[in-house]
Amino acid sequence: MQEILTDCGAEDVLGLQIGGPSGTFISNQEFDRKLAFEDLATGGSFIVFNNSRNILDIAHNFTHFFAHESCGFCTPCRVGTSLLKKQLDKIVEGHGSAGDVVALEELCQLIKTHSHCGLGQTAANPVLTTLERYPELYQSQLKLISYEPGFDLDAALETARRMANRDDAGAHLAQIDVE
Ligand code: SF4
Repeated sequence: MQEILTDCGAEDVLGLQIGGPSGTFISNQEFDRKLAFEDLATGGSFIVFNNSRNILDIAHNFTHFFAHESCGFCTPCRVGTSLLKKQLDKIVEGHGSAGDVVALEELCQLIKTHSHCGLGQTAANPVLTTLERYPELYQSQLKLISYEPGFDLDAALETARRMANRDDAGAHLAQIDVE
């Protein structure tokens, strides 16, 4: 990989997505790997990301792509890619809590092992390969609370607060911190 990057004149490389969105994301610590069936198998495509890019954004974008592309024939992929999109949205938007990354990984494994065709079987790869290499990025998005619902409960009460002309602490929901 390093030889190809040098030939391309690529600089300040953050990582590579090998084989398109359904392939493997490798970090800049792995550029000694080989583009070959025995190592990084690909139909020939790879995407180079430089350090200005956010890895979570990349995985997030690919996950939305697969949820859109699922043909809907089988449940693990049809429902699974949609749930995966929502679960990742929750984490990326700062509503994730302890357990959400574990649930994310379990969902990935379920989609991967139970989907009917290659699309579903590889749809979780962007999350799995980035989670494996950058677990701290996912963890850094989490709130230090025991549980956070999939939507913002406090924001949902905004209309009620306006109607009641209240904005005191008692009109807001607060989560309890984990010890
Ligand atoms: S795994 Fe394949 S067959 Fe099943 S819903 Fe996804 S794209 Fe369709």
